[in-house]
Amino acid sequence: MSAGFPSLGEFVAQHQREYSVLGGFDCCTCGWTPRDGSGCATYEEHVEAAWREARMIRSPEQLDANWPMGAVIQEVHTGACCEEPHCDFYEQLWVMQYQMGWMPAGAEYYDWDEEPRLPARLLWHPEWGA
Ligand SMILES: [Zn+2]
Ligand SMILES: [Zn+2]
Repeated sequence: MSAGFPSLGEFVAQHQREYSVLGGFDCCTCGWTPRDGSGCATYEEHVEAAWREARMIRSPEQLDANWPMGAVIQEVHTGACCEEPHCDFYEQLWVMQYQMGWMPAGAEYYDWDEEPRLPARLLWHPEWGA
């Protein structure tokens, strides 16, 4: 998959539920346990957090990777902008449109210099299927 993002199948293969007889709790084949300080109390919480993290786009290199047409990402509100008296951060969706690159979803007017703000999350990758 492009830009180093796992497919759902690859992700699931990395995160299998295991039962720790010694600990008396569920853990994960990736090494997660409820006591590893990650803040996730259950296997379900861990898998959801790990899937969110697996889809994060944090670097310009990831953003500029060879994305297929139809990929959809969304800007993520980190709170870094909230210093302003009034935070008007909008979690913009962007769609990959071939040579045109990332285009804001639903935009009637587009400034070509505009780029998605990082970090962003991958919402849809065409290789995930329908
Ligand atoms: Zn895991
Ligand atoms: Zn904000």
